[in-house]
Amino acid sequence: MTDPVVVVGGDAAGMSAASKFKRDAPGREVVVFEKGEWVSYGACGLPYYVKGEVETLEDLVSVPAEAFREERDVDLRTGHEVTAIDRDARTVTVEGPEGTFEQAYSDLLIATGAHALTPPLDGMDLDGVFTLHDMNDAPRIRQFLGMDTPTASLPDLGYGEAAAAYAELEAPDAVAIIGGGYIGIEMAEAFAEHDLQVHLFEMLPHTLQPFGPEAAAVVEEHLREQGVEVHLDTAVDGFLGEDAVSAVAAGDLEVDVDLALVGAGVAPNTDFAEAAGIELGETGAIATDEYGRTNDEHVYAAGDCAEATHVVTGDPDHVPLALTANRAGRAIGATLAGDPTPVGEIAGTAVLKAFDLEVARTGIIDEERAREAGFDPVSVTIDAESRAHYYPGGQEIQIHLVGDRDSGRVLGASMVGREGVAKRIDTVATALHAEMTVDQLSYLDLAYAPPFSPVWDPVLTAGKVLA
Ligand code: FAD
Repeated sequence: MTDPVVVVGGDAAGMSAASKFKRDAPGREVVVFEKGEWVSYGACGLPYYVKGEVETLEDLVSVPAEAFREERDVDLRTGHEVTAIDRDARTVTVEGPEGTFEQAYSDLLIATGAHALTPPLDGMDLDGVFTLHDMNDAPRIRQFLGMDTPTASLPDLGYGEAAAAYAELEAPDAVAIIGGGYIGIEMAEAFAEHDLQVHLFEMLPHTLQPFGPEAAAVVEEHLREQGVEVHLDTAVDGFLGEDAVSAVAAGDLEVDVDLALVGAGVAPNTDFAEAAGIELGETGAIATDEYGRTNDEHVYAAGDCAEATHVVTGDPDHVPLALTANRAGRAIGATLAGDPTPVGEIAGTAVLKAFDLEVARTGIIDEERAREAGFDPVSVTIDAESRAHYYPGGQEIQIHLVGDRDSGRVLGASMVGREGVAKRIDTVATALHAEMTVDQLSYLDLAYAPPFSPVWDPVLTAGKVLA
């Protein structure tokens, strides 16, 4: 009998792969090991859970564990951590409630995700200093804010103890967010909703580095309008306090806060893969081919732990986003079931809500990076209306569009505005996948009616100006 396909990691990449594999090869076995209790969850919703728009953590679960087991016939084992691979024997070592054991595999998918980086700041271990990556991080922040954390269907995850300790503390008044990435900015909105004074610290000249300075500058102005203190070019040294954080220190600056969120980025979970001789790429994530296969033909990797090929540069890249993980997992599930399916290229297309703004990006917008990839970048930044000029309620959209001078090819774009940005970026993302020129982009037949856009959509206008 063939050994089962084994998947390590029970979220976006892992469960997409397991589901697709069982759908296409119902007669074969798939075993998923997930070290935590949560599976198939949307960490992307955590800022809205802290904000209070999402009531329970269970609301973030797409498919419950029982449904995988009972309806999809996936052998899903939560509370099981894979600690090693023996590639010659084709087994993994698993630590679970029943002890340590070896599990044989025919093919293995590593879908272990990433973890929050914790920079070596003084006082990182003080009460009230948090990161936000894992599901269990969010209820602790909610409890610190004095909010309840109903978890109807879950075993006790130890929240009760933390809640009791936090109940002794006064509700916080001010919060420091360290890092102006998208999670930092989404959390600024969440904390502001609870009437906290928010201080956002960014060591670089601008927040939202992958979105480029043009979009970031608009966001920073908006954050200030919303009452957020934005400290740019300001590297935080650490946190002060006895047991709980009472201030954040950055050079000569000391700001009183009673809560801190460190959003310093993520790093891929590669430890046991690397120890087994699975090759990492230059980005530090697991190197894979177009089918998600590693340097071992029976070992695949997908999602936040793996590299993928950038659609513009053709080079390996690491952009940890949800669709990339879901898509690669699904493709690998199909491949393992006998239908070789490429995992797809990535454009780094991303969008976030920053209070009243929509902010989006795709492709290569950093001109230095474009030059390193062999392009001669040219760009424009335009402001256009989101609706026909006479139709009430239109808002300004800023588009920064980058192209290649020699080939005319579209390289990337950022957009920011109060409406019409989140989905408009997808037009440019599609142009990147089709390797369109700026000229071709500016002549696309896009939908028009006064409530939704001017007759020349802002994307077409940006293309016309740049072409
Ligand atoms: P993960 O979701 O990290 O899952 C990996 C799983 O593997 C985990 O459950 C982990 O417990 C398990 N695991 C790890 N090691 C082992 C082991 N040795 N044995 C067994 N199990 C193991 N992306 C977007 O595109 N848009 C967004 O708006 C967005 N917002 C986000 C907001 C937040 C706060 C966070 C934290 C992330 C956000 N993301 C967003 C990123 C997105 O959540 C990830 O890209 C996606 O979850 C990656 O899926 P994955 O399956 O690769 O990894």
